Amino acid sequence: SLESRLQALEDYSQRTFKPTDAVLQEVVQRARQHNMPNIHVGRMDGLTMEVIIRMAGYKKMVEIGALAGYSGILIARALGPGGHLHSVEYNPDFAEVARESFRKAGLDDRVTVHVGRASEVLEQLTELGPFDGIFIDADKNNYPVYLDWAEKNIRVGGAIFGDNTFGFGHVWRNLDTIHDHHLKPAIAGVQTFNSRLADNPNFRATILPTDQGLTMAVRLK
Ligand code: SAM
Repeated sequence: SLESRLQALEDYSQRTFKPTDAVLQEVVQRARQHNMPNIHVGRMDGLTMEVIIRMAGYKKMVEIGALAGYSGILIARALGPGGHLHSVEYNPDFAEVARESFRKAGLDDRVTVHVGRASEVLEQLTELGPFDGIFIDADKNNYPVYLDWAEKNIRVGGAIFGDNTFGFGHVWRNLDTIHDHHLKPAIAGVQTFNSRLADNPNFRATILPTDQGLTMAVRLK
């Protein structure tokens, strides 16, 4: 069946390209020990983002949603020595776990974890911009708000990444058919995020279908 073939291809990809290593697996374990949700970026999506950041030679990025530091480690590694990641996390306990992950990965000099609501912290980060990249991976209903900020604070040639942009498999649906009170605003947020980037003449955007849907858009002008 189609499903078993897709599964076989996913297994093959992970086996061959090895998206994780001991340090990243420790992050997943650390998150589990702290009873944090297992919602790290998809392995292959994270790997792809790392490769793209390395190709582009980006040095300064923002991440919205640190969780335990899994994607932050991928990004900080890719930024290289002299690079810097500003990672925003509103749960102070999660932020502490993320800091520990960056310490253990030997990347703490390359990452600043900012504790607070992204809508407020981003305002403070504005003066440190413009940025080479911004990875949006927090509350889906606010993706359009984060996009407003990202569009203004990304340099030409920089990129906006958005995770979970398949909306947990529901992004294609007419909003009128979604009655779940949590899901509906999340899907609305992701739909708006995708179509705004797709239709913005200042960006060239696509969606990577590897895991949960990863939208990426490069600023043209
Ligand atoms: N990027 C992480 C990774 O791949 O390892 C996963 C991030 S997880 C999907 C989303 C995170 O966003 C959670 O840790 C949550 O506490 C945080 N978050 C949710 N709403 C937020 C907000 N308004 N401002 C900042 N962080 C928020």
